[in-house]
Amino acid sequence: MLPFPPIERWRLPEVACELTLNAVMPAGRRGCESGVLWLGQRDALSVITAVVHPIGEGVEETSCFWSISPEAYAAVSAWARPRRLTLLAVAHIHLGAGRARMSETDRKQGLKVTDALSIIVPRGGLESDPSAWGWFVFDEGDYRELEELEQVRRIELTSTGEVEFARIDTGTQEPA
Ligand SMILES: [Zn+2]
Repeated sequence: MLPFPPIERWRLPEVACELTLNAVMPAGRRGCESGVLWLGQRDALSVITAVVHPIGEGVEETSCFWSISPEAYAAVSAWARPRRLTLLAVAHIHLGAGRARMSETDRKQGLKVTDALSIIVPRGGLESDPSAWGWFVFDEGDYRELEELEQVRRIELTSTGEVEFARIDTGTQEPA
């Protein structure tokens, strides 16, 4: 099997969205951006089964960007490997209400793998409707926004499915 098989669709349990909002909203209330990583098994249909909120050393939550260091990514990968999970998406909040756009930092931050997703939740995490979020896919070397129909066709929201949540202290590489 290819290490990175193309992804046609993502199955996204609603609970993953809720876990994401719960994780990032405290930062949003403080006026800072924050974010999580979505993991699952990569396949033509990739199912999101874990939400990881990295905290601690290597994570910067500021009023204008959220960034995690390569070491922080490595800590998450170390957690994911024995679980046979792959990083599928980065989801983070913007504080404004406008249409989500990826910043330079966001592009740098994002996973550089074909069909990786980058999701931007506006209003500091208060926007709970995923169709109002910004959806971007890494395609031919850069992120582009999913068109509305493509979003409907490729992102399958489901009310079922179990999702694991972990808060990982990237300084210690252990779940906090
Ligand atoms: Zn951003």
